[in-house]
Amino acid sequence: MAKTCIVCGKTAGSREHVFPAALGGRRTNSGIYCPEHDNSYSGLVNEIAGQLDFVNAYLGVRSDHSGQPKTAYAKHTLTGEIISISASEIKFTKPRVISHTQGGGGEALQLSFPSQQSAKQFIKEMEAKGHAMVLQSKPSLRPYITGAVHHQLTFGGACGLGAIAYIAQTFFAQEFPEIARSGVLSDFIAYTQAIAKVAALGGSEQKTEEREELITARSALTASLAPFEGTAPVWWEFSPPTGTRRNKFEFGHRVTVGVDAFDGQIYGRVALFSTLTFALRLGTAPRNSAVREVTVDIDPLAKHPPNDIEKYQLFSALGRVHAPKNTTEGLSEAIANGTQAHAFTNLLERLTEHQLVNLAHAISKALAPCSTMSPPEARTLIDKVLDEQPQQIWRMVTSVVQGLKKEMAKGSLDAILPVLDALIAHNAQSASGLSQQAEVALALAKAALAAQMEEDCTAGLLNEERIAELLGRGPGLHIVGQAVLAPVLQVFGGMPTPPT
Ligand SMILES: [Zn+2]
Repeated sequence: MAKTCIVCGKTAGSREHVFPAALGGRRTNSGIYCPEHDNSYSGLVNEIAGQLDFVNAYLGVRSDHSGQPKTAYAKHTLTGEIISISASEIKFTKPRVISHTQGGGGEALQLSFPSQQSAKQFIKEMEAKGHAMVLQSKPSLRPYITGAVHHQLTFGGACGLGAIAYIAQTFFAQEFPEIARSGVLSDFIAYTQAIAKVAALGGSEQKTEEREELITARSALTASLAPFEGTAPVWWEFSPPTGTRRNKFEFGHRVTVGVDAFDGQIYGRVALFSTLTFALRLGTAPRNSAVREVTVDIDPLAKHPPNDIEKYQLFSALGRVHAPKNTTEGLSEAIANGTQAHAFTNLLERLTEHQLVNLAHAISKALAPCSTMSPPEARTLIDKVLDEQPQQIWRMVTSVVQGLKKEMAKGSLDAILPVLDALIAHNAQSASGLSQQAEVALALAKAALAAQMEEDCTAGLLNEERIAELLGRGPGLHIVGQAVLAPVLQVFGGMPTPPT
């Protein structure tokens, strides 16, 4: 079959990613769009990649374009400075001045750098500007504890939904090439083209004053929605059809496209990270089209084909969709009853667990030599390995302290609350980002975990599973709780034991 662009009918051949590369799609197809129309959707692709960049960064998804794991940026709550977030670390992006004192015929600065390279470059720049730099002490490598990084976890808007529509359209064209070129998608394609134009002009958020071009694009979008009674033919769908199988991949995306022979309904469903779920109506198939449905599961963590997707086909219309009367109805209901928030919380919990499992795997490897070492040698290695994980141990400290705070507030034992707050207080101006007291709490937690690991190691029990338990689940939280909270509880006497 001749490969023609489904938008304009000219020769296709742009090798577009069927699923966006930025979200971990690894497969290309050169038979769907001409280069111009492949390009025309880039605004929507950027929109969806931007909205999901935190999730991609935490997961370590590699873009198929750059090959590098995703990095996202956020403002650090305490200092207002920019930090970068990736699956391996959270760090500041620029040099920071920690303290600044005058005297001795010059200025003494305590500085912190995101990397050694950044430090070298800074010294070079300062010297180029004529500042003589003298190092007063040897630089040391210290991790900075950022605490919770707040960023909005939402997805959607007209352009977010437009991106979903574009993804489903591309898959439909791949799986049903003849129907896609029969003209029955023309209204749907006009809509995705119109929303893509709005996205390309940076119109994902409507502002009060907008440039002429964008205003024109918005009216074109409104006009394109007329065949759909004024609302986009894509909506949030919180109840997947019964009988669907689980996604093959832990954080898999899924795209389903199908045709129901009964009334010709052309439908699509998209699920991102097996969490954010949408449905679409793309049009009505020509009479006597056969019933068929194709589902593709996509693993955003696969580095390359062939095990990055799983595809299967049904000769029924299991996933056919029922458009709500008003496409925002489902969403407002989901917001009202917390379904959407629940979906995001669930995704975050799965991300945390995923990171813990990866961490336990890495630490288990690092600690493998312990089994043949003498106890003091083993302990030295355990200490060294735990020293590299302050952020993870800090997460456990804050988790037990905040857990106890909640309990105490319930029992109206308010007097202890400031004491607990002090235990985990940050200090943006310190080298570690923690107050002195918080550093003590962190050190106590680390020592307690190291002691337990040493004991488990001697008993031959320190496997990957046990390490995960100690560094993020109940047993580890219990140990950290004992170490950090025991001194406080002793002072206050007679308090209930901390929840673990
Ligand atoms: Zn074209």
